[in-house]
Amino acid sequence: MKVLMIDDSPDALAVAKARLSKEYLDIVCAGGGVSGLEAARREKPDIILLDVDMPDMSGFEVCRALKNDVELCMIPVLFLSGVTTPEDKVHGLDLGAVDYVAKPFDAFELRARVRAALRTKHLQDLLIEHAHIDPLTGLSNRRALMERLQCEWARIERHGGQMAFIMADLDHFKNVNDLYGHHVGDKLLQETARAIADQCRDNDLPARYGGEEFSIVVPDETAVSAVHLAERCRQKISECCIVVRNETVKVTASFGVADSRGATSLEDLMRLADEALYWSKQAGRNRVQSNAAPTPPVAAPTNPDAMPLSDHHPVNE
Ligand SMILES: [Mg+2]
Repeated sequence: MKVLMIDDSPDALAVAKARLSKEYLDIVCAGGGVSGLEAARREKPDIILLDVDMPDMSGFEVCRALKNDVELCMIPVLFLSGVTTPEDKVHGLDLGAVDYVAKPFDAFELRARVRAALRTKHLQDLLIEHAHIDPLTGLSNRRALMERLQCEWARIERHGGQMAFIMADLDHFKNVNDLYGHHVGDKLLQETARAIADQCRDNDLPARYGGEEFSIVVPDETAVSAVHLAERCRQKISECCIVVRNETVKVTASFGVADSRGATSLEDLMRLADEALYWSKQAGRNRVQSNAAPTPPVAAPTNPDAMPLSDHHPVNE
């Protein structure tokens, strides 16, 4: 785990570094408040040891800046200070610091306090991770999807650029659950999730939107290139199959694609993708429809009459 130490005294940095050397930590040092904030943004440390008295910016000011930054506010801050009044301690803790260690610090105490803060940080990271993952498919859940969409939309508003958004819905999926049971439906959802995730770049965010609906955030792309991604996903999903009692159960998906250039807000972008998905369903399912090019459909199904279920159970929805 990575520790960032911010202190204007080179001696204090050297001592703290020596005290922590047995903890197998990656230690990064900064000699002032301003350079410390820069290092925090650059290094994304797991914990910050922060001196209170520094000439360019006090530790309290640095802590306030850290807690006001959405990307840095979850990093635990441990104050290190020579002059420590109870008021200082209260002030530091109220600013969001997790602990306060008086200088000169005892090596064992400093190490124990750093370990304690890192343990809490680890649990906090696990909690955040679990809150963002769909347990059935392992994909990001709707909460993570919305956070990423808001983040990408804010980036576009600040710096320009574009993004695409893909909505997908499994065709006639209710029939799978009704005919074969939810355990088969769940397996198909997992297969679908894998097929979608395999097609995505590192920067894309595939997510389970809910039920049998999936979506993909595609940063920096237009609907035209996102259509190719959706088409690859559609193809891979149609190849997924599960064998149940000697029957092969298959599924297909319909896709709607939109991009930010034609959208007035994030809600509008999602509405446009949803609308394209609706037209994809209307046009016969198992296809990709983009709001950028409503007609003709981008990808026609190879066999429009093909039902998503086994041949033994043709069901009309
Ligand atoms: Mg100092």
